[in-house]
Amino acid sequence: MHAAASRPELTRGRRHAQAADPARNEFQRDRDRIVHSTAFRRLVYKTQVFLNHEGDLFRTRLTHSLEVAQIARSIARSLGLNEDLVETISLAHDLGHTPFGHAGQDALNEVLLQWDPACGGFEHNLQSLRVVDELEERYADFDGLNLTWETREGILKHCSRATARRLQAAEPDGPAGRFLDGRQPSLEAQLCNLADEIAYNAHDIDDGVRSGLLTMEQLCAVPMFERFHAAARAQHPQLAGRRLLYETIRRMLSAQIYDVSDATAAALRELAPASPDDVRASRPIVRFGDDMARQGPPLKKFLRDQLYRHPQVDEMTTRARQVVRELFGAYLDDPSQLGGGGAADVPSGRARSTGREVADYIAGMTDRFAIREHERLTGRRLFA
Ligand code: MG
Repeated sequence: MHAAASRPELTRGRRHAQAADPARNEFQRDRDRIVHSTAFRRLVYKTQVFLNHEGDLFRTRLTHSLEVAQIARSIARSLGLNEDLVETISLAHDLGHTPFGHAGQDALNEVLLQWDPACGGFEHNLQSLRVVDELEERYADFDGLNLTWETREGILKHCSRATARRLQAAEPDGPAGRFLDGRQPSLEAQLCNLADEIAYNAHDIDDGVRSGLLTMEQLCAVPMFERFHAAARAQHPQLAGRRLLYETIRRMLSAQIYDVSDATAAALRELAPASPDDVRASRPIVRFGDDMARQGPPLKKFLRDQLYRHPQVDEMTTRARQVVRELFGAYLDDPSQLGGGGAADVPSGRARSTGREVADYIAGMTDRFAIREHERLTGRRLFA
């Protein structure tokens, strides 16, 4: 174990004190709470890039989160970081995502700010924290899952300064303070951030080709892809089609995992942090090597231009935004409609009439539930 790795026995604790578990450490306990949460199960029906019903083999937020956890665990093991904590943060990192991926989030942000320009809008990282801190209703004694400070620090990956000020006022020693004084999160949190990027770059290539929106020929214009494609073909000249694609992506993933391990190990030797708090006071430590770091942005740009903004994806995005906007308006006009599609989905005992409560409700929806609710409330079906 690296001296700067997070250690469950030294946790800053939970917001509601709980006795230690006889069999599991504090981070393992957090992970188990996340796996059993309602928000986690819903990830299986939430979009990553493609709508959930577009095909059975596309990534959803659930499979994405599992891939992030696998990548983060591999790197954590090689660096002597806490594997339980990286698994926990990875599995929780997308819990606050709306239905329909970024389209849903943008629309929800827009309507919330129209409702109240001072409300802070919608931020998915903050929403992930709200899910585990407040919105899950599983315990008799408290709202939320009552996770450790370290897991919550990892979940709050980004946060605007205005939001950080508000969070810090409510919880002076909470995980938002670092956005005001420029500190870094734990090594495990930094690692999950990079693992997220490695995972989605690789699987969006796979899903993009599977969908027919991207071709391998197009991808060969991207240096990061071309390099591993060429290496795969050099070793297996007969390889073509899907297996060539998989062989290329597999090599790309491995190379990035080893690259982060090596570059981060070098940074750890150079900076020699002796505790997690040394890490928080340092510059960012978990990193790609310089060469790999240079190859990331062109791949991202390619995916943005060719896939995320592909006319077919755009079409879906436009309709998804309309669904979210109209749902928000319908519930705000008539709060009695909240939960109309299934009483079990409505957290008990809360008056649901503010924009924030409506947003929490919509953010929790799966793609298909949002589509059904929209049809029920407007009489129009925007997705076949
Ligand atoms: Mg993610």
